[in-house]
Amino acid sequence: MTCRDWEERIAAAARDDAPDGTLYQHLAYCPHCLQFARQMAAVAAALASWEVPAPDESAAEAARAALAERLAAIRKSSPGRAERRPVFRILDQPAAIAVAGAAAMAAGAVVAPGWVRWALVCWAALAALVVSVVLLHSGRGGTTEGEY
Ligand SMILES: [Zn+2]
Repeated sequence: MTCRDWEERIAAAARDDAPDGTLYQHLAYCPHCLQFARQMAAVAAALASWEVPAPDESAAEAARAALAERLAAIRKSSPGRAERRPVFRILDQPAAIAVAGAAAMAAGAVVAPGWVRWALVCWAALAALVVSVVLLHSGRGGTTEGEY
């Protein structure tokens, strides 16, 4: 049994106030554990006499009101999505970004060499497959209990 094991028994004895004889035998010859036992006794005594201060309701209410006021100020200063200009609302739509990217890719494919066109066709087919799988999966209704 190591001193670490003895420390756990010392801590348990400080909580339960029921040390056994073997613990006293170890404390008789181990200065490290004896010091730990003294510290645990001091902590246990301090915890026993500790009283939780009563919460100050008026301070909590003032903090809550100040927080609500700050949140209201933040909401007023930052415009919501509906209040932004149409250009930024379009950028919120991932499909609009994808369409713009596809148009750019098509324009590049016109001037690209043949093998690049084939690579683009393969990439587009794979992307369409992935998009259809994602759309099929997200189109499902909500799960019922027990279904994943
Ligand atoms: Zn020890």
